[in-house]
Amino acid sequence: MKELKKRIREEGKVIGSEILKVDHFLNHQIDPVLMFKIGEKFADIFENKEVSKVITIESSGIAPALMTGLALKVPVIFARKKKPVTLDEGSLSTEIFSFTKQVSNTVYIEKGMLTADDHVLIIDDFLANGEASLGLTKIIEMAGAVVVGIGIVIEKSFQDGRKRLDHAGYPVFSLARIASLENGQVTFIER
Ligand code: 5GP
Repeated sequence: MKELKKRIREEGKVIGSEILKVDHFLNHQIDPVLMFKIGEKFADIFENKEVSKVITIESSGIAPALMTGLALKVPVIFARKKKPVTLDEGSLSTEIFSFTKQVSNTVYIEKGMLTADDHVLIIDDFLANGEASLGLTKIIEMAGAVVVGIGIVIEKSFQDGRKRLDHAGYPVFSLARIASLENGQVTFIER
């Protein structure tokens, strides 16, 4: 997605050789106009998959997931990183290791939020080692629902996530694919 790559080039800050900071439009301050376009793009890509629900993890996945749900006119679920008292017993949960925080979190969704009839699209802001996406596939499959695809805003293709998701057989589509962040430079994989 051209506009997204332009924003990454102009506003992204590289930290070390593995982390990209995009706090001005995605991870802290959010650009709703760009998010709307991202949602429409994902909706176009996955329109033939009969998506019944979109799922993500709080908090950075919520903006692109919500816009995708809006474009597809389906509900959006975000897995919670803390178990609230309002969550019913018997919630579905799995451990996810956070690449940026370097800690494991248990994430939860309420039982019954997904059913065996659901065709679920996973949306996330970044793909690094694939822990978040693979965790979500587990929760979806625990509910007996089907993962129809994974939409990623920014894929860091030099990390293992893409390989792991391809290997597991999930259709993955990323709007920007980064080949390298070496020397403070963002190099994209051009299609
Ligand atoms: P994974 O689970 O694929 O290893 O990592 C993806 C998750 O870690 C994303 O949900 C995202 O929040 C966070 N993440 C991974 N790499 C980056 C990065 O370079 N920049 C930012 N801002 N978040 C990242």
